[in-house]
Amino acid sequence: MPQDRAQQEVEISSGRIQRLPQHVVERIAAGEVIERPASVARELIENALDAGATTVRVAMREGGLRLLRVADDGAGILSQDLAMACQPHATSKVRSLEDLERVATLGFRGEALASLAAVAEVEIVSAADDDGLARAITVAGGSSSPTSLASRPRGTTVTVRHLFGEVPARKALLRRHGAEGARVAAVVRHYALIHPAVRFALVADEVLTLQTRGAGQVEAVADLYGPDVARSLVQFGPQHSGAATLAGLVSPPPFDLPDRQHVVVAVNGRPVANRALMSAVEAGYRPLLRKGRHPIVVVTIAVPPEDLDANIHPAKAEVLLRDEPAIRPALRSALYAALGSAKAAARAQHAHERTALAPAVQLRLPVPRKRRGLTLGETPARYRAPAPDAEPDLSDALPELEPLGQLDYALIAARAPGGHLYLIDQHRAHERMLYDALTRQMPAAAASAQDVLTDSADHDGAMSGQMLLMPVLVELTPRQADLLLPRLEELAGIGFECQHFGGSAFLVRSLPALPEAPADPGAVARALAQDAAEDASDWLDHVRTSLACRSAIRRGQPLSMQEQRALLDGLRTTAAPARCPHGSPLILRYSSSFLARAFEW
Ligand code: ADP
Ligand code: MG
Repeated sequence: MPQDRAQQEVEISSGRIQRLPQHVVERIAAGEVIERPASVARELIENALDAGATTVRVAMREGGLRLLRVADDGAGILSQDLAMACQPHATSKVRSLEDLERVATLGFRGEALASLAAVAEVEIVSAADDDGLARAITVAGGSSSPTSLASRPRGTTVTVRHLFGEVPARKALLRRHGAEGARVAAVVRHYALIHPAVRFALVADEVLTLQTRGAGQVEAVADLYGPDVARSLVQFGPQHSGAATLAGLVSPPPFDLPDRQHVVVAVNGRPVANRALMSAVEAGYRPLLRKGRHPIVVVTIAVPPEDLDANIHPAKAEVLLRDEPAIRPALRSALYAALGSAKAAARAQHAHERTALAPAVQLRLPVPRKRRGLTLGETPARYRAPAPDAEPDLSDALPELEPLGQLDYALIAARAPGGHLYLIDQHRAHERMLYDALTRQMPAAAASAQDVLTDSADHDGAMSGQMLLMPVLVELTPRQADLLLPRLEELAGIGFECQHFGGSAFLVRSLPALPEAPADPGAVARALAQDAAEDASDWLDHVRTSLACRSAIRRGQPLSMQEQRALLDGLRTTAAPARCPHGSPLILRYSSSFLARAFEW
């Protein structure tokens, strides 16, 4: 046994290379499985689902860092197994190498609970039958308490406290509670969509933030995104591609969103982040949506267990699929066909609306028509009309406005009660709304301003950024670096995740969520970092302004009547609706008496 001998020699080596102590090994391994509170949620939810739960309740405090608890009504853990469950590589799901070839459960490595116990305090209360008696155990820092008696109906509650309490380096990499909590919420949402027969609930800091009925996939979408979205969904499949079965649903415009967060691809019940599958999904919807927009999509792929290797990623986020080359085109065309049919139906509906509105849309104003991105006020002499009433008083609240139509895809013409005519610059109006939302720094408000054109409710409650595929390295001057360093947390709050990379270099990991994916994220990252490193007390304001400007809908973009209305309604809620954040006018008002005078009625 030459290998054993080699091993022994290593053990007694007196050289500089030493085998790591067991608790260090465990801590390192834990780091791969448990990255942040969302990974805790994922592992515990998977355990609950593996145990056959029909109800999964997740509770968290402080974004899951202080406490994350998952309670289920599954099979429970036998009292004699309780201590073993937290040991490394201890599992009830796989016994042999052959089992590993066809894993039918979500878990199989026996690592989750052990990893958690290495980086947090873990309490498990579980009952494996219905007599009301349960056993409890607490494991932390490599040692476990003796089991004690407890009481609960059949099922398991795992409570994880003080995650990374003893791992300050990892804790420092996490974002503020709101952002981590939003990721936990995303995990719960994904499993709720993929396992729609199971009832899910999430309670964040004592507040019930989401809940599903366990009735079906469309119902789950209704519970999570609202009944309007659910009604608009297009379903596809189940259809076969080789041994795989694909099925799913997708939301057509206007229920599209500025980020990919709501695109869920599941393989055998587990949400995966396979680049290839994700890009096949995107290739399916991309030609049918505006640039930078993404639908809500849930794709479920079922393959025979032996065609799948989930063992290639520590957190199982990536999987290897034997049939992937065949699945990709099938996926793309399924999505394309589903969304295409929905768009065709919507177009018919839209045409109908247009006829109904025809007289209003015909409205033409004495403003040059040929030019795009026209600037108001510089009216050529030929068209020169008497000046309008002036811009509305800044202190005036905006009246309720009824959109009449879009002019040159730049302005919205709108009617106010009393027959007054308003012209609103669509870009500046949206810019103003986004800016206000960013200023209020109320994460939920910011998210809803982003979503205003889609009417969709996002329950995340945080302004989550768009993760960059590759972090962007930004080099600043030492002076700029000094200025930027104390501002990193504040920036993370608006989704701009910037990490000090030594010296005056920074790694930008995420950009604030923009409705249009920037063509050159590197350039945006650099520009925002420069703005944020400005030597001015109102630096954050500059970041907000430049962000709002980059995110706002452009002139030249067609808007449906519904989108126009959403924009006008949103504008009414802003603080200073008459001017954009740069200080340029965004509204012109022609009062009915002005119109009467000008036309000599
Ligand atoms: P794995 O899921 O890979 O087996 P874990 O560390 O997640 O590894 O869990 C270890 C074992 O503990 C599982 O195999 C299972 O037997 C048991 N277990 C964990 N969570 C639950 C639960 N919620 N309900 C029932 N059994 C559980
Ligand atoms: Mg597990």
